[in-house]
Amino acid sequence: MATTLANSFQKDSQATAIIVPGNPAITISYQRLTADVKSFQHKLVALGVRPEDAVSIALPNSYEFIVAFIAASWQRAIAAPLNPAYKQSEFEFYIDDLSSAVALVPKGSFAQDGAAVRAARKYQAAIAECYYNGREVVLDVKEQGKLQGKGNQKVEQAQPDDVALVLHTSGTTGRPKAVPLTHRNLTRTMKNIQATYKLTPEDRTLLVMPLFHVHGLLAGFLAPLASGGSVIVPLKFSASEFWGNFIEYKANWYTAVPTIHQILLKNPPPNPKPNIRFIRSCSSPLSPKTFHELEKTFDAPVLEAYAMTEAAHQMTSNPLPPGKRQPGSVGIGQGVEVKILDQEGNEVSQGVEAEICIRGENVTKGYLNNPEANKSSFTKGGFFRTGDQGKKDKDGYVIITGRIKELINKGGEKISPIELDNIIASHPKVSEAVSFGIADEMYGQDVGVAVVLKDGQKMSGNELKEWMAEKVTKFKLPKKVFFTDVMPKTATGKVQRRLVAEAMFKQEQ
Ligand code: ATP
Ligand code: MG
Repeated sequence: MATTLANSFQKDSQATAIIVPGNPAITISYQRLTADVKSFQHKLVALGVRPEDAVSIALPNSYEFIVAFIAASWQRAIAAPLNPAYKQSEFEFYIDDLSSAVALVPKGSFAQDGAAVRAARKYQAAIAECYYNGREVVLDVKEQGKLQGKGNQKVEQAQPDDVALVLHTSGTTGRPKAVPLTHRNLTRTMKNIQATYKLTPEDRTLLVMPLFHVHGLLAGFLAPLASGGSVIVPLKFSASEFWGNFIEYKANWYTAVPTIHQILLKNPPPNPKPNIRFIRSCSSPLSPKTFHELEKTFDAPVLEAYAMTEAAHQMTSNPLPPGKRQPGSVGIGQGVEVKILDQEGNEVSQGVEAEICIRGENVTKGYLNNPEANKSSFTKGGFFRTGDQGKKDKDGYVIITGRIKELINKGGEKISPIELDNIIASHPKVSEAVSFGIADEMYGQDVGVAVVLKDGQKMSGNELKEWMAEKVTKFKLPKKVFFTDVMPKTATGKVQRRLVAEAMFKQEQ
């Protein structure tokens, strides 16, 4: 059974592994990918990268990212992808947190003295530009940093319990936490995703999520590759190029955050519609309204999944047909045990809300340098506390009601922001809604909501409240409604309620 990344791919097949769209497109077979990875491993080793060294990869989605990521993790180094669009202070935080040995940056970054270059220099990480020149993936070393004179070690093969990857959580609820994920963690998720969606060598996916986050890396890239299929890797998501690429390169599924699905709903596929085997939605709540619109417009089953960095991505998903898809639910555990536990670690009855907890081979052993979080994150029974509140319906499907830290606490009564978002989003004039707690003298907290209206629509806060009064108890009606043209989101398209609240108050001033 494959328990390292290296033995989870077919290495000598002529089948297409990667396509990078462009003029001309780059098409890479599994055999070619393996050869490029091996040759890049020797380059990293010659630079002086040793086992357990962190290799920060500040590259956009590209063939060079893929080769650098696989090369570092196969050889017992630790791949640490970073958003190439970070500002210098962000790069500094991540490079310092892992004491990175080397930072891989795009061609031209050194001459431009880019943010990643300046941050790497500050912490004496080696700096190397990394790019594909049509024949090989080049490692152009610009500065040796602390790797000075440490070259000529041999390539060591990673073992199942070696850390392959460190990613930080998104920092939605506080400072991002560093999550080490071993080969065993990653390969377990790859197998779970492969099994959930019955991925085969015939499948082709169009990758639109960034590779510096577990969603794109595991569901959009590693799992399809482990299934022997092909991954189409454009530089980034582009609404105007999506369907052209999807059709030209014969994709049959994709995975994305709800924001991207919503953008695609406004830019639907041309006729005849491409054949889509399924659409996966993950990382943020998908409102039942968007679920139905997607299924209707794209004529494909929409499978909402639930994932987090600490679980090497996927924990639950709705199943493929003929399994039942439940809008508003993230489905059932897929190779992962999922229980709803109270504060003492006891399972609550069906239908009761408490913390969603998980256990499985995919789950990290604990955060890096964070004993406090490690102590509070695991139950006695070895379940990981997700920090999300939810319940199971009568079929065992999980319904997330909100992050525990983001529940609106109105005079001691907890209000689920996701429940309110879904209700407001079902208003015919509303395109998107995000609820959050706002300070209130009487209750401590009350409900605030940011609303984006559909193009050309008009509505007042009172009109919305009157409409809502038919649907929720008076207690849950928003005290304040903010109308906005765009909803603030993170680079991976996630909503941070805290930041939405801040932005709305700022906008109002
Ligand atoms: P931090 O842990 O630093 O606060 P984060 O939790 O946003 O940040 P990630 O690991 O990227 O970091 O995100 C995992 C979280 O995303 C989950 O705990 C959950 O709150 C949310 N999430 C993932 N999938 C879904 C989904 N389908 N519906 C609702 N929420 C989801
Ligand atoms: Mg989290």
